[in-house]
Amino acid sequence: MFYPEPLAKLIDSFTRLPGIGPKTAGRLAFFVLNMKEEEVLEFAKALVNVKRNLHYCSSCCNITDVDPCRVCQDKTRDGSVICVVQESKDLVAMERTKEFHGYYHVLHGAISPMEGIGPDDIYIAELLKRLGDDKVQELILATNPNIEGEATAMYLSRLVRPFGIKVTRIAHGLPVGGDLEYADEVTLTKALEGRREL
Ligand SMILES: [Zn+2]
Repeated sequence: MFYPEPLAKLIDSFTRLPGIGPKTAGRLAFFVLNMKEEEVLEFAKALVNVKRNLHYCSSCCNITDVDPCRVCQDKTRDGSVICVVQESKDLVAMERTKEFHGYYHVLHGAISPMEGIGPDDIYIAELLKRLGDDKVQELILATNPNIEGEATAMYLSRLVRPFGIKVTRIAHGLPVGGDLEYADEVTLTKALEGRREL
């Protein structure tokens, strides 16, 4: 590659993004080169701000710019149910269904022995802390319907049993091996309705 260094660096940065190969990265870099300077500054600021101004909610671990997050602040929600999801984007997918009115807990991953991710590497301890409060009566495990998501759900159901809380798992309609975030609203609503007790 014989690009001037700043351009080569930008191309390299784009290739670090998921789904972006060298060809697309080159196209994006040249696109940036032709953008207006104020647009580029706005873009750069958005990149930095997403890192600087966002953190995890001290209650549910959702990504947020305020603490507690907007979901946890909403007192009209049903405090007896917590829906456990792997990522903040899964929470957004659940919210899109408008069918769930409880609170959430975001694990930021799933247990995966293959990748060396154990229970302590995701936000399980934070979840247990919330269960000490006797308001919670049901835990809905909405981890992804793949090996890691199932393993995490099984682990959690065993862990939570001593708390005497009803543990359910969303089931019907979700494609096995799929990601929750790609499920459409109807499928996700059906999955929520068809949850079974673990
Ligand atoms: Zn929260």
